Amino acid sequence: MLAFRMKIDVLTIFPEFFREVFDFGIIRRAKLAEIVEINIHDLREFAEGIHRKTDDRPFGGGDGMVFKCEPIFSAIEKVIGTCERENYPPLTRVVLLSPQGRVFKQSVAKEFADEASHIILICGRYEGVDERVNDALVTDEISIGDYVLSGGEPAAIVLTDAIVRLLPNALGSETSAENDSFSNGLLDYPHYTQPRDFRGRQVPDVLLSGNHAEIERWRSEKALEKTERFRKDLLQKEK
Ligand code: SAH
Repeated sequence: MLAFRMKIDVLTIFPEFFREVFDFGIIRRAKLAEIVEINIHDLREFAEGIHRKTDDRPFGGGDGMVFKCEPIFSAIEKVIGTCERENYPPLTRVVLLSPQGRVFKQSVAKEFADEASHIILICGRYEGVDERVNDALVTDEISIGDYVLSGGEPAAIVLTDAIVRLLPNALGSETSAENDSFSNGLLDYPHYTQPRDFRGRQVPDVLLSGNHAEIERWRSEKALEKTERFRKDLLQKEK
């Protein structure tokens, strides 16, 4: 039997959210090729009592609700086999999606693709998650950007997509991550396809020239131009 290269377990109170989201394109293909296995877990199933409560009011007062510890600890125990962080098997990462975490970037996606074989993504809701989850279970607190979502689910999708496409053999021959934006510190160069003339807008001549050296030069130039215009910060970081 072929071993999966990467396993991703998502913990959420809205499993339906993920019903089809991983069933398209590269992610779907990677699942079929057994490069990745993705499991969605309903946190409610790990909650106790007849009401299966996953959240409760915050100690100290204030608005909203907070995710309780118990269901998350039980879910982690089930998917990893332990909720003692020091006993996690090697290459296991327990990620809390949170606006307060390390900001997710291509380099972080690469780090996970290269250095993890089991990723657990905890999706919060409401005011967030009881801090003891962070203290005891989480290896990485990750934010997808400086804005607040109503739940961690969209963030879990973003991480899964960006990480899985970097796994060996996940991209078919028709795509490559090499020139993708951020992989080499630059944005990607502009792409064109048929027709050559679309409502009077022409494809740049150089791309039709067949001169590969010229084309390479043009593409580097354009990538640099675009980066300078929109993301100067990327160039400054290079130094
Ligand atoms: N009160 C919290 C925000 C809670 S938002 C705070 O100010 O920090 C509810 C949930 O959405 C969070 O628990 C988290 O799982 C998710 N979330 C919100 N913004 C996010 C972001 N930028 N990146 C990743 N997850 C986010």
